[in-house]
Amino acid sequence: MMIKSVSFVKSSQKWQDCPAPELPEYAFIGRSNVGKSSLINALMNRKDLAKTSQTPGKTQLINHFLVNDSWYLTDLPGYGYARVSKVQRKDFEKLITNYILNRKNLVNLFVLIDVRHSPQKVDVDFIEWCGENGIPFSIVFTKADKLKPNAALKNIEHYKTELLKKWENLPEIYLTSAEKKEGTENLLQMIAQTNEFLKENKIDFHG
Ligand code: GDP
Repeated sequence: MMIKSVSFVKSSQKWQDCPAPELPEYAFIGRSNVGKSSLINALMNRKDLAKTSQTPGKTQLINHFLVNDSWYLTDLPGYGYARVSKVQRKDFEKLITNYILNRKNLVNLFVLIDVRHSPQKVDVDFIEWCGENGIPFSIVFTKADKLKPNAALKNIEHYKTELLKKWENLPEIYLTSAEKKEGTENLLQMIAQTNEFLKENKIDFHG
């Protein structure tokens, strides 16, 4: 997909404040420092569209971008900060889960995972929550350039084995490097194909 235009629409503190849900929406989420801002910038071919790592504990916002005047890219706050209080974490989880459960134009959630690490509980729990709630999601491994290809594939296999302990089917899995701009075209292609499918089947979100 060619990115012809992308513009920042707004930051919202809760799902009710997000732009009217009238266009297909693709959201990105992951632990802080997973490489989410870098990946969004690489996808959109921009340097500073998504701001890199916000300070933990600061107000967390949902950021909407309008792409090619036809779909929303949503930058969700990072989860799993180690240094916030329990109350802050609960509020914050609520912001994310409310958005995911209530946003009716959310077509796909891209869950970002740093490919260098073995499966982390906070990520596995989140993925399982998505599965249990019937959320359409894909897993996007980030920072592929930081490992040799075999090591990256081995880590992905490890993740799959972990998820298959509980699930029969695996979601779509992508391997990306924002640094080397690898795997980004696959993500854009998935979005383009899904948008095409929605259009052909006259699925819109009005009313
Ligand atoms: P965010 O907190 O999830 O938005 O993560 P950032 O995009 O701010 O990235 C966190 C750190 O990882 C930064 O120092 C980035 O430069 C680095 N980073 C992000 N993506 C990549 C990547 O694909 N390859 C490499 N080598 N570093 C990356």
